[in-house]
Amino acid sequence: MVRKLAAQGVQHEGVLRAMGEIERHGFVDSALVNQAYEDTSLPIGLGQTISKPNVVARMMELLINQRPLPLGRVLEVGTGCGYQAALLSRVCTEVYTIERLKGLHEKARDLLRPYRIPNIHLLFGDGMLGFAAGAPYAGIIAAAGGDDVPQAWLDQLAVGGRIVAPASLGKTSQSLVIVDRTPHGFQQTVLEAVQFVPLKSGVG
Ligand code: SAH
Repeated sequence: MVRKLAAQGVQHEGVLRAMGEIERHGFVDSALVNQAYEDTSLPIGLGQTISKPNVVARMMELLINQRPLPLGRVLEVGTGCGYQAALLSRVCTEVYTIERLKGLHEKARDLLRPYRIPNIHLLFGDGMLGFAAGAPYAGIIAAAGGDDVPQAWLDQLAVGGRIVAPASLGKTSQSLVIVDRTPHGFQQTVLEAVQFVPLKSGVG
């Protein structure tokens, strides 16, 4: 999988190393293990999916943005099965990851337990509100897309920090959106089309 990612243009050493170390098959149902290293999104229960490896790698590269590793504190919105949180734990000092579906929050806790990763903080709640107690964040990364980038994420981003998130921005399709917080304000960049599950408010 790592060789394939490199061939697809993933360049960052830290991202490739993390993707080689964290086994994707440990995060999918046993019936899907054979597909764990294919470049496809896979169901993780409750109607949600684990993203394609090359999308995960691309978003992590964008999040790092050539900054030295480790990044400081990072907020992940949409823990899902915990796969990306495990990857993020290798490139930042602390991962705060929040999930709105109790069943998935608990699933991630069970799946991550054997790895004993000390710098992942699993949170249950509405990630549209961010997680103020961990702010300011060097990075915020979302695995679910809303219409816009929620205000709370902008408020909780450190100066010099970056948000990487899918958003529809008033259109019917989603794009990958980057928001950089500079000393002079926020700068938004819209990248390629993507397909993520919807960002929903409240918990379930
Ligand atoms: N990063 C995950 C991908 C999970 S899919 C992984 O590696 O498995 C996106 C997740 O975002 C879903 O589990 C969905 O329930 C969650 N989600 C959607 N809206 C949310 C919100 N407002 N707060 C927290 N999680 C949310």
